[in-house]
Amino acid sequence: MTARILDGSKIRDQIFAELKDEIALLTGEGIRPGLSAILVGSDPASQLYVKSKITACEQLGLRSWMHTPVDSVTTNELLSLVNELNRDNNVDGILIQLPLPKQVDTKRVLEAVDPAKDVDGFHPVNLGALVSGRPGLVACTPAGCMEILRRNSVQIEGANAAVLGRSDIVGKPMALLLMHGNATVTICHSKTREIADVLRRADIIVAAMGRAGYVQAEWIKPGAAVIDVGTNRVTDAGEAAKLFKNFPERMEKFRAKGNALVGDVHPDAINTAGALTPVPGGVGPMTITMLMSNTVKAARLRRGKTSKEPAATAR
Ligand code: NAP
Repeated sequence: MTARILDGSKIRDQIFAELKDEIALLTGEGIRPGLSAILVGSDPASQLYVKSKITACEQLGLRSWMHTPVDSVTTNELLSLVNELNRDNNVDGILIQLPLPKQVDTKRVLEAVDPAKDVDGFHPVNLGALVSGRPGLVACTPAGCMEILRRNSVQIEGANAAVLGRSDIVGKPMALLLMHGNATVTICHSKTREIADVLRRADIIVAAMGRAGYVQAEWIKPGAAVIDVGTNRVTDAGEAAKLFKNFPERMEKFRAKGNALVGDVHPDAINTAGALTPVPGGVGPMTITMLMSNTVKAARLRRGKTSKEPAATAR
């Protein structure tokens, strides 16, 4: 069996087309949704992430602003900036690029964001809404995983689902979304025993643990849908040789570049799974897509309009 590839870039393009129509409608009503990004310091990876988010806004016709406090910024200075953005009616979404410098109380800053503008879905109010199945803004990566499943007609209701990882931003919200979709969910973490046995019973696997190629092909029930959230940069030639044993062209690329991006699922899973997200090109493109979707959703909800969000994250 060769798995059907669940292409995140294709779904991003579909959702972007839908969002463009919705943004045009809102703009016609005098509402141009806007996202404000806060990027502290000069970390190149963070700069790249924020730049790609701003580019996505421009592509869709959303307003965007970038705030770039210096590395030595204090918690109080960031709190004043967040409060200013909370009060600005042009701003629908506030994004705080993590990590923040050591001297900053990250939790306090994240919790200062108006929950109605919390497009990352990290605020306790939005997490609480997710737990109790009420409308709110859902964390982008798990919301994106749900879109991948739904838009590929993967049966969620009644499915046995296993989520590997229990972080606040991926594993926990993912498990809740699957449960709200009427799957029976098992959450695995670093203290879980016999993970292979849990996975062998799962119709849907979501791997979000940050361990390159951890999920072995033979642990996957034949035909299962596998969503690989992991993004691990492999630089060790021995590790690459084990991962790419059956993929000479990927090994070739590794040798040329000196590194490769690998998910939490072993590449051999393509021969057991029924459907599989590639890394890169699966979950990755969906995270920015759902950030854009959340910004438009926030613009609607803040003005008391019904949300036109996709079915996957509607509650
Ligand atoms: P995290 O906060 O480090 O959490 C990792 C989770 O995996 C923890 O709950 C941990 O268990 C669990 N875990 C670690 N080793 C394990 C093992 N051997 N067996 C079972 N569980 C294990 O990571 P995260 O932020 O959720 O991210 C997870 C992965 O997704 C990372 O590779 C990250 O880069 C990637 N990611 C990708 C995107 C994207 O857009 N593609 C977005 C977000 C994250 P404990 O709780 O017991 O420690």
